[in-house]
Amino acid sequence: VGHRFFTDFRYDTQSAVQVPELFTRAIAAVDLLEAALRSIDSREAATGAAGAGGRLGFDDAGLTVKQYTRLEELLPAGWELVASGGMVEGLREVKDAGELERIVAAARLADEALTSVLQAGVVGRTERDVAIDLELAMRRLGAECPSFPSIVAAGEHSALPHAEPRAVAIPKGTLLTIDWGAQLDGYCSDCTRTYATGELAEPEREVYELVREAQARALAAVRPGASGREVDQVARGIIEEAGHGEHFGHGLGHGVGLEVHEAPRLSRTGGEQSLRTGQVVTVEPGVYLPGAFGVRIEDLVVVTEDGGQSLSGLPKTLTVVD
Ligand code: ZN
Ligand code: ZN
Repeated sequence: VGHRFFTDFRYDTQSAVQVPELFTRAIAAVDLLEAALRSIDSREAATGAAGAGGRLGFDDAGLTVKQYTRLEELLPAGWELVASGGMVEGLREVKDAGELERIVAAARLADEALTSVLQAGVVGRTERDVAIDLELAMRRLGAECPSFPSIVAAGEHSALPHAEPRAVAIPKGTLLTIDWGAQLDGYCSDCTRTYATGELAEPEREVYELVREAQARALAAVRPGASGREVDQVARGIIEEAGHGEHFGHGLGHGVGLEVHEAPRLSRTGGEQSLRTGQVVTVEPGVYLPGAFGVRIEDLVVVTEDGGQSLSGLPKTLTVVD
């Protein structure tokens, strides 16, 4: 069994530095799929096993239909294509010490960036302007990039779970949701805080406390052996009991690592698997009241023997920002 890494001319020098020695590097002159399949053919010829065939796994969660068709065309006789989506992602679920260190550093950097932006003041500035400042702050602190486009959403806009920052000024006396993360040394962070920009109305305060309670209880339920669905249900049960079940339409959380959304999932539908020590997941319940306001609180959490250890250092008690 060998490990081969295929790339093209553009990444020749870079891959020589970055690809582990375990892999034999191959610089493809033709397209990567063709180069990979030719290597199967030449290996068969070398071992005298031509035509013996085999099974070729591919990531059906990432390959386009066009690439799949091409694979079928190029496949040597006797070979079978086997959908193996999630196989590589599965290997990434449990993080080693070096990976954890990088994720911790990314989370700290993101906290520091938001702290500086909040200190400079956000009320009266546009959501877009604040988002740009936040992303710039992360880059200045050393992040390669934000791990996803930052969400800065005030008032009724915060009722959109994936709101895009608008060219609209953040008013006083409303809720402000900020969901942001940094990518540092290849690894991502992900965190959400919802702030008050002054005195809030009673329903806003109530929903904030509900989400805070749900988030804290779900966080306390994170431990090796608990299923993603069970942890999701802890938060969901509290939110349902308060009559807001239909306002929490997304899953509780997701794995974070090289990608900001990866396995495992903490949700009603995709959370059958038990959590394992060394996984890094988010715990992010939310309540969204269309046309009114929304609250989401998200921590990045390492699963340890002793339970969930949050990497998000910013306070979760309702905080007023100016
Ligand atoms: Zn997030
Ligand atoms: Zn998230």
